[in-house]
Amino acid sequence: MPQRVICHECGEILYEGDDLKTPDEIIQRHNGRCPKCGRKLSSVPSSVEVKPIK
Ligand SMILES: [Zn+2]
Repeated sequence: MPQRVICHECGEILYEGDDLKTPDEIIQRHNGRCPKCGRKLSSVPSSVEVKPIK
């Protein structure tokens, strides 16, 4: 099932696709910051939201 990872702060889509990624991978891919709102991303406490795409 495809998944979508969004910024908890602004709702920016950080990742979308079929491959299951851990929040850490997504965060590293964006150098630890949301490209839209600039918020520092972390997995603990979670600042991203992982949702299945239906
Ligand atoms: Zn954001």
